[in-house]
Amino acid sequence: MNDKQLIRTLSPDTLKNWLAEHKEKPFRAQQIMSWLWQKDVHAIDDMTNIPETLRLKLQQSFIWDRTQLLSFQLSSDKTIKAVFKLYDDAIIEGVIIPSDKRMTACISTQAGCPVKCVFCATGQLKFIRNLSAGEIVDQVVDLNQLSQERFGKGLTNVVIMGMGEPLLNMENTIMAIKKITSDEGLRWSPRRITLSTVGIPEGIIRLANEHLGVNLAISLHSAIQEKREKLIPFAKKYSLVDLQTALKQYTYFTHQKITIEYLMLQDMNDSITDATALSHFASQINAKINLIPFNPIDHCNLQPSSAIKIEEFMSFFKYKNFTVRLRKGRGVDIDAACGQLANKFLKDV
Ligand code: SF4
Repeated sequence: MNDKQLIRTLSPDTLKNWLAEHKEKPFRAQQIMSWLWQKDVHAIDDMTNIPETLRLKLQQSFIWDRTQLLSFQLSSDKTIKAVFKLYDDAIIEGVIIPSDKRMTACISTQAGCPVKCVFCATGQLKFIRNLSAGEIVDQVVDLNQLSQERFGKGLTNVVIMGMGEPLLNMENTIMAIKKITSDEGLRWSPRRITLSTVGIPEGIIRLANEHLGVNLAISLHSAIQEKREKLIPFAKKYSLVDLQTALKQYTYFTHQKITIEYLMLQDMNDSITDATALSHFASQINAKINLIPFNPIDHCNLQPSSAIKIEEFMSFFKYKNFTVRLRKGRGVDIDAACGQLANKFLKDV
């Protein structure tokens, strides 16, 4: 089984070549692609307009890496956290966050995460592997269906902000975005998608060059290099100066406003010195600022900033005419901080 290729890594042309080698008609490529990327089926045997003999050949040559929704938890604030099993038994998470106007899904790009942010439950998990483009798209399909079932309406937005650092799984993330937004895929507007990254300068430039049209968010959490490295050890590889330069280029090429994500952590990044550093950083790249209340996690001493501190931070940035927003803490009762549910699930099985 291990030497079989993932079927959704095939391009239409490669699939046509494979069909020719196996003495099958080229028009089957379009039919198979449609089953793989547009229809919500889970097995090669479900491709009802494909002859049984061809389905057998496909099964002998390929793995369909379809994710499987294992379970979900519903929070008192209606946030849903879902656990998915991958074809090799790896576990990932996805979240649905309903609000008045939006139904937002938060999806994963890696099983575990090599970045190891100290405030993140996913960072405490072992890094397993990158997700395939198909596995990233499946989360959108399945969470959309779950949203329809539970709330009577589908997703309006997707944030690529779940487990993993998307720019460390660049090719598959880009391919997944193209599939979600293309006519051969889910036909979503890229404006409804936000990619969140800890900030890998070369990845940000690559993203700009791809002209995907998605929104970009940076998990900054401190605009002071030493503090940022304490929170995101991976950030030692990249200086804030390099990150800022890449973000300037991104806005120059895309004309898009970037969002800075900033977790509010007591006595870590919530002083006036921290606010001043953040305002200098953000003003250089014309960014909006999202302040995020912290959901405490196991094995981490960090605590959430007080409501008064958060209010002071908000006032500081409003006074300086920044667009600043306080994101609501959601799903606190269902382990909704990134990685918490998968962590629990992995311990329970
Ligand atoms: S916050 Fe994101 S980048 Fe950091 S460890 Fe968690 S999943 Fe990885």
